[in-house]
Amino acid sequence: MSQDVLLKVDDLKMHYPIRGGVLFRQIANNYAVDGVSFEINRGETLGIVGESGCGKSTVAKAILRLYEPTAGAIEFDGKDIINMSKPDLREIRQDMQIIFQDPMESLNSRHTVGTILEEPFVIHGKGTRAERRKWVTDLLDKVGLQSDSVNRFPHEFSGGQRQRIGIARAIALKPKLLICDEPVSALDVSIQSQILNLLLDLQREMDLTLLFIAHDLAVVKHVSDRIAVMYLGKIVEMNDAESLYKNPVHPYTRALLSSIPVPDPERKKVHDVLTGEVPSPINPPDGCHFHARCPYAEQICTKQRPELTTTNSNPNWLVSCHLKENFIN
Ligand code: SF4
Repeated sequence: MSQDVLLKVDDLKMHYPIRGGVLFRQIANNYAVDGVSFEINRGETLGIVGESGCGKSTVAKAILRLYEPTAGAIEFDGKDIINMSKPDLREIRQDMQIIFQDPMESLNSRHTVGTILEEPFVIHGKGTRAERRKWVTDLLDKVGLQSDSVNRFPHEFSGGQRQRIGIARAIALKPKLLICDEPVSALDVSIQSQILNLLLDLQREMDLTLLFIAHDLAVVKHVSDRIAVMYLGKIVEMNDAESLYKNPVHPYTRALLSSIPVPDPERKKVHDVLTGEVPSPINPPDGCHFHARCPYAEQICTKQRPELTTTNSNPNWLVSCHLKENFIN
């Protein structure tokens, strides 16, 4: 693992057995995540984008070992996360934090904001009571909330303010990696940009590395250095954000981009329209998983699964499509 790589995920799989019948035997598998690999350098933001159910949030939870992966390797800051003991995992989670779409789900509604923000320090045995109170006030200031918020409860805040509380708690222990799992999807558009700008400011200030997950490519592009597009448990395209946005190659990426407005006259508008539903990750289709929705599908696409490989022109541009070279401008 190179010095600059903070997180390396290699061939990660999360398969859930489906049981049924009188004997409740395993009758199928849910291939929620099926062979995902990527690296994130220190200080970088990798965006993961895809429709609901593509496995992007499962990847996030598997990295933190909130889910136990079926197979694969995860290396964080040079340490093997998959085979780590529970006490070591508890320690290393100080350096890997997550913020969720709905902070209400992760904020204890019976506790004041002061208690919620003090909790990470208490759990990890940090500071005296007076020091912890000072740190909580500093955290509130960092995320743009008044210091008197300590005595209020989560339900007394707006959605955007609650997300600020969730961010404050996530950065309390000065993590190296912040996983943002749809952090603005539930917020009004005007509030979304405030939260995104807060995250970018904190990233600069604290030298954070971000894994940013969302279903909206416009949001992901705003914050990401590189973007991975996921479809049915697999990455289908990965490139730097600017190039992916200007020259999408995989028909699924092209269709996702077609659905967002084009304020940039230099970006070529593509007109692939996404039709139909995402197939079930239980017994996914043979060949390319996207073939039933792909306007360019050929016979090979229904039989042979395309590998995620580099394009002829760029070793950092990965695409999983038999016809990818035909789509490169
Ligand atoms: Fe479409 Fe075939 Fe490429 Fe799959 S491999 S995205 S079906 S052209």
